[in-house]
Amino acid sequence: MAPKVTYPQRMCVACRERFEQKLLLRLQCKEQRLSAHSGEGRSFYLCSDCLENEKKVTRALARACKSGDMNYLSTQIKEIITDVRKS
Ligand SMILES: [Zn+2]
Repeated sequence: MAPKVTYPQRMCVACRERFEQKLLLRLQCKEQRLSAHSGEGRSFYLCSDCLENEKKVTRALARACKSGDMNYLSTQIKEIITDVRKS
């Protein structure tokens, strides 16, 4: 029988479902500027399903960043996703 492994679970801020941390994209928002998490400060997570849904993800980012600048947020999240997939 395989040993039962439990992974840390984190909540996606868009759908509020819980996932294994490694399946989520970790982000942070500092002074309303969105970026990939740098390792310090507050962070939040988005799941890959939500990242496919631009409207949903932008709304969630607006809440997480307390910013109403939807154009900035949707442009920025696309850049972050592109960077993450490159590395
Ligand atoms: Zn989600």
